Amino acid sequence: MSKETIFDKIISKEIPADIVYEDDMALAFKDINPQAPVHLLIIPKQPIATTNDIGKEQREIVGHLFWVAGEIAREQGFAEQGYRTVMNCNEHGGQTVYHIHVHLLAGKPLGWPPYQERLKT
Ligand code: AMP
Repeated sequence: MSKETIFDKIISKEIPADIVYEDDMALAFKDINPQAPVHLLIIPKQPIATTNDIGKEQREIVGHLFWVAGEIAREQGFAEQGYRTVMNCNEHGGQTVYHIHVHLLAGKPLGWPPYQERLKT
């Protein structure tokens, strides 16, 4: 069982969010601190804390999140130019909200690698 997070409050509409897509399994809304011209978060309605907690029974839900990403990209017109989907896991992954989410970033050429530090050899 995962602890309640701010995303549960967005799902229950206790706190507002700029929602761009919703169905019975998933919700997508604008990130409050955007890192690209388009920065959306796609979350499952079922709370799953981290990608480590994705069980066999949640495979359909997680696949659904990526299907939603593609649908939004096609609908908003950036599918052809491209975009990035990212899921951060735990401290080293940079996860801050412990309810899994796909970051959907688009609207400009995105740099790679996505971190600033040089790898130590
Ligand atoms: P992560 O660091 O991968 O866990 O990503 C969490 C993301 O949630 C960050 O990009 C935050 O800017 C975003 N975020 C946190 N609170 C809110 C909120 N209330 N509404 C929208 N986005 C949020």
